Amino acid sequence: NEQNFQDPVRVKVVVIGDMCVGKTAIAHRFTKNAFEEKLPHTVGASYYIRSMEIEGRTILFQIWDTAGQERFRSLVPMYLRDADIALLVYDITSKETFHSLELWRTELLTSAPCHVTTAVVGNKSDLGAKRQTESTTGRAYAVKHRMLYTETSAKLGTNVEELFYDLGLRMANPE
Ligand code: GDP
Ligand code: MG
Repeated sequence: NEQNFQDPVRVKVVVIGDMCVGKTAIAHRFTKNAFEEKLPHTVGASYYIRSMEIEGRTILFQIWDTAGQERFRSLVPMYLRDADIALLVYDITSKETFHSLELWRTELLTSAPCHVTTAVVGNKSDLGAKRQTESTTGRAYAVKHRMLYTETSAKLGTNVEELFYDLGLRMANPE
C-alpha cells in the first residue's frame, strides 16, 4: 500500500488566548498526557511535538504555545504567519477571556494565512460550577466565524485527544 510510504503530514499549530486560560496545560496534556497544577509561565513561546496515526497517515503536530501576556503579544504574528491550525483558547470560568477572543481573532485575520483552520476551545470544563460563558454562547461565536468549537479540561484530559484527532483528520483530508 502506497500510503504506508508517505511522509508524515507536518501540521503547525499555534495556541493563542489570554494568560492563564490553560494554553500550556492543553499542549502539555496532549503531548505528555499529564497535568501539573503549577507549570511555569510561558516566556515568549514553547514548542511541543507529537505525532498521531489518523486513517493510515502520520500527522506530526508541531505546537507553538504562545504567552498571553501583553509584553509578549508582539511575537504572536511571527508564529501565526505560517500556521495551519490556530487554537483560540478561553477559560469558561472567566467571561473576560471569552470577550478577548475577538482581539485574538483580529490577530488571526491580520497575521495568519487565510486558509488557517481555527478552533475555539473553552477550557476548564471540569469547573462547570463556576462557568461564566454558556457552551451555546461559545459555540454560536465559533459558528458565526466558521471556526470549530469544543470544550476541554486539560486537567482531566477531557476532549483534548478528540480535538487534535478532529483537526488532524481535516489536515489528512483537505477539502
Ligand atoms: P496559560 O497561561 O494559558 O498557558 O495557562 P496555564 O496552562 O499555565 O494554566 C493556568 C492555570 O490554570 C494553572 O493554574 C493551571 O493549573 C490551571 N488550568 C489549566 N487548565 C485547567 C483545566 O482544564 N482545569 C482546571 N481546573 N485548571 C486548569
Ligand atoms: Mg502558558
